[in-house]
Amino acid sequence: MTLHNNQYLLSNGVDPLLLAEKYGCPLYVYDAAIIKRQYERMVNAFDVPQLRINYACKALSNISVLKYLHQMGACLDTVSIQEAMLGLKAGFQPHEITYTPNCVSLEEMEAAVELGVNINIDNISMLEQFGHHYPHIPVCIRINPHIMAGGNAKISVGHIDSKFGISIYQMPHVLKVVQATGIRIAGVHMHTGSDILDPEVFLNGAEVLFKIAHQFPNLDYLDLGGGFKVPYQEGAAATNMEDLGPRITKRFQQFCKEYGKELALVFEPGKFLVSEAGILLVKVNVIKTTPSTMFAGVDSGLNHLIRPMLYDAYHHIVNISNPTGTPRVYNVVGYICETDTFGANRKIAEIKEGDILAIKNAGAYGMSMASNYNARFRPAEVLVHEGKDYLIRQRETMEDILRNQIEVDVMQTALV
Ligand SMILES: *Cc1c(COP(=O)(O)O)cnc(C)c1O
Repeated sequence: MTLHNNQYLLSNGVDPLLLAEKYGCPLYVYDAAIIKRQYERMVNAFDVPQLRINYACKALSNISVLKYLHQMGACLDTVSIQEAMLGLKAGFQPHEITYTPNCVSLEEMEAAVELGVNINIDNISMLEQFGHHYPHIPVCIRINPHIMAGGNAKISVGHIDSKFGISIYQMPHVLKVVQATGIRIAGVHMHTGSDILDPEVFLNGAEVLFKIAHQFPNLDYLDLGGGFKVPYQEGAAATNMEDLGPRITKRFQQFCKEYGKELALVFEPGKFLVSEAGILLVKVNVIKTTPSTMFAGVDSGLNHLIRPMLYDAYHHIVNISNPTGTPRVYNVVGYICETDTFGANRKIAEIKEGDILAIKNAGAYGMSMASNYNARFRPAEVLVHEGKDYLIRQRETMEDILRNQIEVDVMQTALV
């Protein structure tokens, strides 16, 4: 969404204000052209014979978005059996889906085997159990490269104290398990965190992965994970895919030559593909001043976009009802009964009650982390494609809030 002739517009000139009017607020809007642009940036950056982009489903798991990415050629990375099932529903073939869970039961792994998806194993205990039951099913292993990286401690997952992956120092044990069970290791995977800017982190990670990969002679692919940075602040630096791509390509091709086989190169971007495509449109309910602060209270909160509160994430906020108004300083806050600040001390074009604000970069980990806290409905979702808008999730109703609740009057039962 950019400012054109004094109004904010989506691709093909679609006006987000009209969408807010048509569908109401709060509303998640996704611009398909930006998802496409980001997908193509990735595909064009890596010049290898077999490139596989596994979209990380958890970033934005609406089935219509999954379908759209699938039609462009993406495969899917899933972290739960339910996400794998969503992927199948969206039209992905089982072999196009990778299942990368953490701390799940053998039963859930077995359910994934039933679905026929690719299995990624992230601890030795599971590798041993799995190899015992399914020695004929090749698997990928997730390694922990012991690299500290990412935008926030909660999304840094490849360091030495992390619960994710098998330590690179445990490879002797892995090799024993492989030998004893006869299972084939078909892929080696790592994912170090989210919101990583420095290309050296990815290159160093790749070096660690190459070293490990040499210990497994029958690989089909190497998976370098996701975690690319997007510009949350206006004008902020983001992962320079066009610079990173050729550097990784060069080292990967060298590796394949040494290894003696052309492997597939896999990535799992979530945020990079969908973050910038999404905005959350909210309506201003009240303007309230205190001795120190002017608040704009909106019809949304941490129940709809929790990143600012959970990760101290910055999301740029603009007033699309009054794009050229004189900027004033606001705290934009939600309507939830605890402090839920979307942005503090923000210069925003003068806001009146009833104005529509757009919270930017809300495509990734926005709706997929939304909840019904305070018994509020989750937002509707709209996908904009080539000038047309499509409702891809209806707003919830009281029925959704009551679904699965069982009304028991325990006092009455006790009397009988
Ligand atoms: C979350 C996750 C990703 C995607 O991370 P982004 O920061 O959204 O790119 C990729 N792989 C795995 C295993 C993940 O858990």
